[in-house]
Amino acid sequence: MNNITPINGQFALAPLPYSELGNIISSTTLELHHGKHLKTYIDNLNKMLPGSGLENLPLAEVVKKSPGGLFNNAGQVLNHTMYFEQFGNGNHNPEGKIKQAIDRDFGSFEAFRKEFEQKGATLFGSGWVWLSADNNGKLSITQEPNAGNPITSGLTPLLTFDVWEHAYYIDYQNRRTEYLAALWQIVDWQVVENRLIQTATMH
Ligand code: MN
Repeated sequence: MNNITPINGQFALAPLPYSELGNIISSTTLELHHGKHLKTYIDNLNKMLPGSGLENLPLAEVVKKSPGGLFNNAGQVLNHTMYFEQFGNGNHNPEGKIKQAIDRDFGSFEAFRKEFEQKGATLFGSGWVWLSADNNGKLSITQEPNAGNPITSGLTPLLTFDVWEHAYYIDYQNRRTEYLAALWQIVDWQVVENRLIQTATMH
């Protein structure tokens, strides 16, 4: 995630790591969300980077250093890249280090899941709910409006659910809570654990 780097100053749309996600996120939503929404954020970012002084930096550094419109597009590219990357047919239950950290900091996976869904459901308007680790590996859940990413608060983002309406409206209409509850069936916890392990080796 921290290693997404531009080639000749331009970011590219990475293909989805899967072709479908069953009935949890429809192929129509995937095509629009990845192929149109994320593509547009990448195109806008690539147009805004030249002359910004942030050319050729890794994406995470652009997000941390960019102002205004550039931040909105860079943030949305990072957020969506992490979102799409964390789904798949891998392990749908946390194990190992990520399970230990969740049990330690939230009491249980059920308690964590309840708080995560509740914070996603109550985020007003468009934004993202995040699980992050601080420099000591302690986990927390935060709400970020619009293009927000906890990386700007010095945290390491591990897992995120997109609660912009474009993420769920075709499949769930206004039922955001159903969408949030369904996503656990497609989370690949190995991806989330790898993000936590990478954090630990950085500090
Ligand atoms: Mn989105």
